[in-house]
Amino acid sequence: MSRSIPDSLKAVLVVCDGLGDHPIPSLRGKTPLEAAQTPTLDQLAAEGATGLIHVIAPGIPPGSDTGHLALLGYDSSSCYTGRGPFEALGAGMRLHPTDIAFRGNFATVQCTTGQGCRVLDRRAGRRVPEGAKLVKLIDGLSLPSSPDIEVVVKHTVEHRCAVVLRGRNLSRQISDTDPHEQSLDVQESKPLDTSEAAQYTASLVNELTRAFYRILSASPLNAERRQAGLPEANIVLLRGAGTLPEIPSLHDLYGIRAACVAGGALYKGVARSVGMDILSVRGATARYDTDEVAKAKAAAKTLSKHDFVFLHFKPADSAAHDKNPQKKIEMIEKLDHLLSTLQKHVDKDNTFIALTADHSTSSLNGQHTGDPVPLLINGPRVRHDHVTQFSERACANGGLGHLVGKDLMPILMNYISRTPKYGA
Ligand code: ZN
Ligand code: ZN
Repeated sequence: MSRSIPDSLKAVLVVCDGLGDHPIPSLRGKTPLEAAQTPTLDQLAAEGATGLIHVIAPGIPPGSDTGHLALLGYDSSSCYTGRGPFEALGAGMRLHPTDIAFRGNFATVQCTTGQGCRVLDRRAGRRVPEGAKLVKLIDGLSLPSSPDIEVVVKHTVEHRCAVVLRGRNLSRQISDTDPHEQSLDVQESKPLDTSEAAQYTASLVNELTRAFYRILSASPLNAERRQAGLPEANIVLLRGAGTLPEIPSLHDLYGIRAACVAGGALYKGVARSVGMDILSVRGATARYDTDEVAKAKAAAKTLSKHDFVFLHFKPADSAAHDKNPQKKIEMIEKLDHLLSTLQKHVDKDNTFIALTADHSTSSLNGQHTGDPVPLLINGPRVRHDHVTQFSERACANGGLGHLVGKDLMPILMNYISRTPKYGA
């Protein structure tokens, strides 16, 4: 007798950031994923369906923001304006449709009268435990030229914060003040189109940047850092100006209740922008020490309340950015442990598990690349293929073929009977 299909089917999408890689000479030509010991990933692939995903389009290196939007089924060419709004949403801020949001970095600068400010350290030494206190000094500051404009600042992690400008006649068409490299000057923000709003917003951002320096460099917290031999956090550099994307939620599209388990603000922000509930999980740090067991258990547990869970795993990407393939192998083995924990805690008769990446990150050059990423989907009604290993090369022969990122959600939603019928 065949088993009936349960009516409450569930799906968990695990995204391992930057999972794909190049063949590495020091690994005898294997990729970190091929070199890692991954018994659970291999078993899930052997019992499931596999394929490759070109996340944006073949050959295009995705950012983490646009990569995740694509995997969640959205066309970033029409909805993506910049990374700022995702950082702000991920920091728990509420955004109005006309707000301009930025990513902010505490940085160390040396200013000389009449000659601008030279960036000595774009991250103020990365460790800024005073971050939340420093943010209090600049959150809500009033700009003399435009007292009606609200400035909202929120600390996220380490040297990072999100900054929002709220008011009338603002534009996101402005350039960054962050020079993106050390030893260059803080940039003047410039309008990127000829509108009055862009000119006005760029001048506000420049006024704001001067105010950041004035207030932060005078703070006793920075005097203490100086005395302790630490680089001062004496300015906030701004980048990624954008507005809230106007996109339908996953609930609007598929009628699902969706949740997110992630450590990093960006991923929580992308999840919030598509209407997911954000779970707060102790030990989910987005760093090498992230607690993979706690994340897997939290994802499994919330399936009693949600139909779909997006679980983000960051540190494989960080290892590749650090050009450290051995560390990436270690993090992929940690991912294997995450999946084995997840598998033990979900009901296999009604739960689909998908695993893929938002892009490849090369451990050779430390950059995101346009190489496709492996995909596996394991679950009760999946047509499994002949692939028995989870890797970039093995998945190239998989039954799901070669997809683009936007294909993934309709496929997953079809498995859990949520993709609407097309036609009569
Ligand atoms: Zn990424
Ligand atoms: Zn990355």
